[in-house]
Amino acid sequence: MSAPHAAPIIAAGQRVRTRIAPSPTGFLHLGTARTALFSWAFARHHRGEFVLRIEDTDVARSSEASVEQILASMRWLGLDHDEGPIFQMQRLERYTAVAARLLADNKAYYCYATPAELETMREGQRARGEKALYDGRWRPEPGKALPPIPEGVSPVIRFRNPAAGVVNWDDLVKGPITIANHEIDDLVIVRADGVPTYNFAVVVDDVDMRISHVFRGDEHVNNTPWQINIFAALGAPLPAFAHVPIILGDDGHKLSKRRGAVSVTAYEDMGYLPEAMLNYLARLGWSHGDDEIFSREQMVAWFDGSHLSKSPAQWDPVKLDWVNAHYLRALDARRLLALATAQLARRGIVAPATDAVLRACVVFKDRCSTGAELADWLGAIYGDVAPGAEDLALHVTDAVRPALATLRDKLATVPWDKASIAAAIKETLVAHGLKMPQLAPAVRVLVCGRAQTPSLDAVLEVFERETVRARLARR
Ligand code: GLU
Repeated sequence: MSAPHAAPIIAAGQRVRTRIAPSPTGFLHLGTARTALFSWAFARHHRGEFVLRIEDTDVARSSEASVEQILASMRWLGLDHDEGPIFQMQRLERYTAVAARLLADNKAYYCYATPAELETMREGQRARGEKALYDGRWRPEPGKALPPIPEGVSPVIRFRNPAAGVVNWDDLVKGPITIANHEIDDLVIVRADGVPTYNFAVVVDDVDMRISHVFRGDEHVNNTPWQINIFAALGAPLPAFAHVPIILGDDGHKLSKRRGAVSVTAYEDMGYLPEAMLNYLARLGWSHGDDEIFSREQMVAWFDGSHLSKSPAQWDPVKLDWVNAHYLRALDARRLLALATAQLARRGIVAPATDAVLRACVVFKDRCSTGAELADWLGAIYGDVAPGAEDLALHVTDAVRPALATLRDKLATVPWDKASIAAAIKETLVAHGLKMPQLAPAVRVLVCGRAQTPSLDAVLEVFERETVRARLARR
């Protein structure tokens, strides 16, 4: 469903500048990656700039390691930025200067209310069934006597939110939104320790970085009225806002760690391909007709800020696998090899000669959705297998054991190529009066550890002769 946004998405002559502003308190979340993709594609589509900003004002929870992870994930996805990374904690002077200006203009004020005092205030509001809003006790008004400044309390700075009127904007995703000013309070813009709050720093940055379009998760919709009022107080032009609905897990709840992997890194680790992740993420909340598979270039060509969905997108692991399998099949030899080697290395397996690994990849890749699945197959070649008891009981029966011995003998001397292996299998079947479906599953279980594989001769060929013979001897 496309948004009922009426105004043009780009004003005439406007320079498009977007940003992604992750907080480095963990890995790059899939939701943030999707927002980054939208911001990036929109900037690229309009030949604008894409800025990477690190919102690290939550000093206690921010970490260098998380910054590194975020940068690595952005690189992996190929979401290249034109400016940044810009760190908010390196811009404290700037926020202090802007706050000083607001103070001087009587658009902000010091508040000395202690946390305990504010808690008492909120308790009273709750008891009276009122909304918990700061009551303006330190807000200067003409003719109003402020409380005496208490000793030993470092004040916060609060924004003087307009008392009346409404805030409205035409959201690129949600359409027109209106909030009455009496429903929001005078928010803290600078904490007692001098560090700005999110809502203040984000506006100062979006102004300074001349951001034209803000794409972000719709958990921020409630912050936007405050931010719009701060833009106005600073006399700064307002960017357009696009609040993208959350991604739901396949259980209908917000996608969260408890219900599976939510970081980009986790998918890289599982051997998903960046182009598949991008393609899949793009379709979470955006569409271009019925197109499901499209390239990065196509997305840039199509992503003009329209056709963003108002309803939450549903994370669908099966579809992600389907998209990934598509790109895995199309992968060139160099990347296929790199993927396989990296996935094997994660399991502590060092793959030998590259040509052999590549040949094996080609045999198995069409059966795989991910690099991890590919490594499951390759692991049987370069590591060991442990056939399940059930498979052994079902397939490696007395009826086929003599044939397995014959095949093992024949494979000792035949040239090690697909045609000769096929001939050896055929001779074995004839000699024992067996059919392929009787013998093949037994060989598969013993050699590959599973009863279903691609064509048996092609599979055996990518194993070492002696590996095959040793495993057939385990009958
Ligand atoms: N640091 C905020 C977040 O990660 C950024 C929100 C925004 O884009 O304004 O949610």
